[in-house]
Amino acid sequence: RAKERGKNTCQYFTPDMNARARELLQFESGLRQALEQQQLVLHYQPQVDLMTGDLIGVEALVRWEHPERGMVPPGDFIPLAEETGLIVPIGEWVLRTACAQSRAWRQAGFSPVRMAVNISPRQFRQSDLTARVDEILRETGLEPGALELEVTEGMIMNDVEAAIATMEELGKMGVLLAIDDFGTGYSSLGYLKRFPIAGLKIDRSFVRDIPGDTNDAQIAASVIALAHNMNLRVVAEGIETADQLSFLRDKGCEHGQGYFFSPPCTAEELAARFLAA
Ligand code: C2E
Ligand code: MG
Ligand code: MG
Repeated sequence: RAKERGKNTCQYFTPDMNARARELLQFESGLRQALEQQQLVLHYQPQVDLMTGDLIGVEALVRWEHPERGMVPPGDFIPLAEETGLIVPIGEWVLRTACAQSRAWRQAGFSPVRMAVNISPRQFRQSDLTARVDEILRETGLEPGALELEVTEGMIMNDVEAAIATMEELGKMGVLLAIDDFGTGYSSLGYLKRFPIAGLKIDRSFVRDIPGDTNDAQIAASVIALAHNMNLRVVAEGIETADQLSFLRDKGCEHGQGYFFSPPCTAEELAARFLAA
């Protein structure tokens, strides 16, 4: 038995495991360099008014242009960044770059659209988040009302009172807040009315199978009704088909984003295809 255990223990040191551990360490140090070497890029996905089709905003989504692996999606490196704390400088770079881009589009004469930026849990807990956001807005010359920060239910419910205080500080500055991936977390509806937020984003998982899946159709319709009763604006995520669009539009969902309109694209593509003078 002991021998067997000993044998099993040895498995932790197989060359295979070593290779994986080494690879993870390399990936981490690569991510550390990615910022300095300007390998991170933002893509922008249009958010449209579902009634008129007008562009109302864009969401900034980070990608890593890895020298060997090619384009790495955020799901493959944001969790590691969060774990190592690298998310703080990365998140700050994202905010500054998105705000500067928004300001540059305005200066180029395009009609203003809202810029939505994802905030990570660790970033949200930073004691000087409000000061950092304020500094970035001043530095880039973007008006606070043009910036919307996306937070998740989990981030808020983790420490409700602290989260409300942070959101109120941001709100006082004039920055907008939205809850991302709504419905996948565990928001207490009782708290929802205390959050100083402008909108909810219905998670893609509830949009994917509508209108065919009656459960999801009912959830989506309920979230829209709930939001409207609280004077919140709704953005549906992941709209891919005309049927999904017409269902959401029927339920009064005002805004949406998804491949049906456009995948996330580079700043140049976005300006060429969607921005109006
Ligand atoms: P999210 O904020 O919910 O962003 C929406 C995700 O859905 C994006 O994935 C977008 O490309 C994808 N998407 C949009 N429309 C469709 C569609 O019609 N169909 C499908 N299948 N997917 C669609 P992406 O860019 O891979 O980002 C994934 C997640 O990574 C984001 O989810 C967000 O949580 C996180 N993320 C992205 N950029 C940042 C960032 O700058 N900072 C932080 N903290 N997180 C980020
Ligand atoms: Mg988002
Ligand atoms: Mg989302």
